Order: sequence, then C-alpha cells, then structure tokens
Amino acid sequence: MFKFFDISIKGKLVIMQVFTSLLVLSIFFGVYILTDIKDYKQRKVNNVIGLAQVIGTNSVSAIQFQDDKTANEILGELKKVSPEIVYAAILDKEGNVFANYKSRAMDSSFKGFGTMKGGKVDFTGKHLFVKNEILVDRELIGYVCLEVELTELESIKQSKYNIATVLLLVSVGFSVLIAIAIQPYISKRLLLLVNRMKEVGKTGDYSNPVIDNGSDEISTLSKAFNSLMQQIRENEKKKDEFIGIASHELKTPLTSIKGYLELLDQLEDKHPNKLFVQKSRENVDKLERLIKDLLDVSKIQSGQLQLNMKEFNVDELIDETVASFQMVVSTHQLIKENRVTETVLADRQRIEQVLVNLLSNAIKYSPGESKILVSCKKNGTELIIKVRDYGIGIPVDEQENIFKRFYRTKDMSVHISGFGLGLYICRDIINRHKGKIWVEKEDKGSSFYFSLPLRSTAVEV
Ligand code: ADP
Repeated sequence: MFKFFDISIKGKLVIMQVFTSLLVLSIFFGVYILTDIKDYKQRKVNNVIGLAQVIGTNSVSAIQFQDDKTANEILGELKKVSPEIVYAAILDKEGNVFANYKSRAMDSSFKGFGTMKGGKVDFTGKHLFVKNEILVDRELIGYVCLEVELTELESIKQSKYNIATVLLLVSVGFSVLIAIAIQPYISKRLLLLVNRMKEVGKTGDYSNPVIDNGSDEISTLSKAFNSLMQQIRENEKKKDEFIGIASHELKTPLTSIKGYLELLDQLEDKHPNKLFVQKSRENVDKLERLIKDLLDVSKIQSGQLQLNMKEFNVDELIDETVASFQMVVSTHQLIKENRVTETVLADRQRIEQVLVNLLSNAIKYSPGESKILVSCKKNGTELIIKVRDYGIGIPVDEQENIFKRFYRTKDMSVHISGFGLGLYICRDIINRHKGKIWVEKEDKGSSFYFSLPLRSTAVEV
C-alpha cells in the first residue's frame, strides 16, 4: 500500500511544495474569478436598471393614455439599443401586461418575473430579470420588466477558467522545478550525513568530518555528529596510547619470567613440578603472543609498522611454516597442495606472521576436524595463497567484520579463546604489501585468501 511515510525526503519535499502552491493558487484564482463574476453581474444590473428607468420615464404618457401602440414601439426600440434583452414588458399597476417585446420567437418569460419575490432583481441560470417600478409623483402607475440573456457571462467564465487553468499548470510546473532545485539543500545534506554515518559504521574511520557550513537544524545535526566523532577519536587515541604503554611495560617482566621458567624447566626433572613449569611456560607463551599482537596494533595505529622488504620464494616459506606447525600439532594434518616458483618482494617475517595466524585460526576454529589445505598459485601479476579449513565457518554477514580490531564472531567465538586482533594485523600487513586478504564461505568451513604482487609488479615500500 502507498505510504507517505515511506517516500524519500526528496519526494516528500516536492509533494509538499506542489500541494501547497496548488492549494494557495486554487484559493487565489477561485476568489479572483468569483469577484470578477460578481462585478460583472453588478455592472449588468446597474445598466439594466438604468435602461428600465429610461423606458419607464418614456412610457408614462403611454400608460396614462392607455396607448399600447406607443408603448410597444418604445419596447421595439430595444432591438437596436440593447440586443441582449430577450424579453421586455410594460405592466400596469395591477401587474397586467400592457405592452411587450420578444427578441426572438420564444415562450413568454413572464413566468420568470412571476417567481421574483418582491425584489427588483433576480438571476436564474443565464438570465437576469429586472422589474422596475414606474412612479409619477411617488404614485405607482406600472412596471417595466426586462429579461437579459447573459451569454457573455458564460464566455467570460470560460475564458477565466481557461486562464486560471493555464496559470495553475504553469505555476505548479514552476513550483515543481523550484522544489527540485531547493530540495538538494535539504535532502542532499541529510543523505550526505546518513552516508557518512553508514561509512563510519562500516569502516570505523572517524577522521572524516561532515562539512556543512549552514546554521539550520541539519547543520546542527552534522556538527553534533562531528563532535561525536571527535570524542570517539580522542577516546580511541587514549585507548591506543594505553595499549601501547601497557603492552610495552608488560613485555619486560614477561621476558624475565619466561627466562626464569626456561631455566626452571631445564633444572626441574621431577613430576609434577616439571608439569607445572611446562603449564606456566605455555601460559607465558600465550601472554607473549597477546602482547606482541597488542604492540603490533599500537604500531599500526601510530603508523610505525615498518616493513623489511626482501625478495624471497613464498613456496619455501609455506613449506617451512607448515612443517614447523606439523611438528607441534598432532590434531590436524596440514596438506600443501601445489608448488610455485615465483618470488615476491615482501617482508618475509610479516608474511610468515600472516600465514601463522591463518593456520592457527584454521586449527583453532576446526575442532574435531583433521584436514587443513594450503595452496599457492599464480594469478596474473600476483600470487594467491589459500588456507582452507573444514571447521565452524563464518556467517556471510560477519565476513567483513572479522578483519576489524577486537572483532570476534558472535556465536562460536565465546567457546574458543582469542582477542580478535590477528586478522586485523594480517589485513594491515597485506594492505601494506599492496595485496588483498579475504575470506570465502565453503560448504563446510572457510577459505582464507591473501594475494601478493609478484616480484616484477611489486611496489617498493
Ligand atoms: P582471534 O582468533 O584471536 O579471535 P582473529 O582476528 O584471528 O582473532 O579472528 C577474528 C575472528 O574471526 C575470530 O574470533 C573468529 O570468530 C573468526 N575466525 C577467524 N578465523 C576463522 C576460521 N578459520 N574459522 C572460523 N572463524 C574464524
């Protein structure tokens, strides 16, 4: 069903303006036409009454001497003087017709005068009836009745209606044009604001304020939005600074705890002490990974993540990484699918970090499954590396979000530990290499891809 509520602001503005001008112009033209017609009628009445008075004066002696011939002659003159008079009559004071005149063959219109309720003037349809007394020394001796056909009135009405319709159409046309010209100042600015809000929600980039120099409500809204973004930016900055400082401060004591634990591990050979030391080492490793990630995030935020670009063979890197994973992972089998010979110009350590992250995620998020496939193939001017798992998969509407900072998928991630930083760092690293990273849903599990420009096309950073 059509709902005014659902129409865009742009549409609403145009409709409102057109309806308002239509209403105002209709009232204006209506009043104008009515006044004009009233004036015309009044003029006609005055003229006809004037004529009736002249006829009355001229007919006094004819009435007094009962000379109907002269009276008829006087009325006969009307044909020349006033052809619009269709019927005229001179009545005696009792109301009997003494003389009459018809401009053309027609039924007597005398009944028109008969319906006049005492008044001098009456309008019936296109006809004006005037009944004027003939007085001699204030004594009533008869009446002059005139019937005028107002043929002009119809044509006047018609031409006024035509003019009004044309002017109405032209005015509505103009008001549509004006509305279309004005509405960008309102709807365009609102749309700009809405689009920026959507963009911010999607990208998390709060650095781009909405520029609106007006001083109306939309500008106030834009300013409020900008100051909100400013506040978020400042909070983000404080948070980043805190993360940077905290992870830096945590790193030093953690390194010494790690050292002592390694020493204890070498010295201790009794159960269960040895087991406790190993558990502690595992947890310290976990903490160390988190701190490394936090430090990377802090570097990314402050634009200090540096790349050490060297030419190397990605295939070899994949083999090494898969092999070292396989040494410590017994739950999954990592299968390398094919071989490429091309080299890339990239930061080997950082690309390894990306690979490690994707492989640990593939293992972490496919509990109870055993197979993980890794492949690398050339596609035009780039290499595409793929890590495929058969795990819990990622809902399509969350695929873009998982590359955001601290984002974890809603359903399963609560059961599996993590901080939502790995993929954020991976994306930044790959973007800095002018590559791309993305995920695709599979029947079971997911495939993560990242691309790197080949040596010949790589841009030195
Ligand atoms: P973390 O794994 O520490 O939470 P990541 O940034 O590596 O952080 O991953 C972000 C989120 O993406 C994870 O919390 C998880 O919900 C989802 N995810 C990543 N890799 C996979 C995968 N292979 N299968 C299913 N979900 C994944």
